[in-house]
Amino acid sequence: MSATRGRIRLTRGDITELPVDAIVNAANPTLLGGGGVDGAIHRAAGPELLAECRTLGGCLPGQSKLTRGYRLPAAWVIHTVGPIWRGGDEGEDETLASCYRTALTLAAERRLATMAFPAISCGVYGFPVPRACAIAVREIAAFLGGSPHPARVDLVCFDAEVYEEYRKILAAGV
Ligand code: ADP
Repeated sequence: MSATRGRIRLTRGDITELPVDAIVNAANPTLLGGGGVDGAIHRAAGPELLAECRTLGGCLPGQSKLTRGYRLPAAWVIHTVGPIWRGGDEGEDETLASCYRTALTLAAERRLATMAFPAISCGVYGFPVPRACAIAVREIAAFLGGSPHPARVDLVCFDAEVYEEYRKILAAGV
């Protein structure tokens, strides 16, 4: 039996409403907020989140940093900076894979049980959705295969295209 079976779950809707230990933010390198899921997380968490982010000195693409969740149901936010899609020859795949690995590593270090990812780089950063979803599932499954933490990972689908891609990939078996 696969160690990852049943540990990756598809969820539709707004990541800011999820009562998980950590939600992942698709941030930009300043960590000072932006549009899309980043804006939604900052609005829901309140100004304390921005104040903590100001102390972090930004974040490089592919890296992740952890803050508290403040007014969110989630206790923690793991901010990761995805790659901007530039055609695929500038290391975008590896940078995106690194986002998932570094975010999962932070959750595992804190022994968090549950975490939720948005589809990193699949919004304004323009990464092709099928390719991004395949990388996400591959990296999460590989990580969970080697770690009991987190016990469960939610893939949060805000739009129908992302949901359909993840559904197909997970139906084919992790
Ligand atoms: P990026 O800059 O990394 O592309 P975006 O925030 O533009 O980040 O989009 C990343 C993904 O997050 C997209 O699939 C978008 O539809 C989704 N998204 C936007 N708002 C939310 C939300 N509140 N909860 C979950 N996912 C969201």
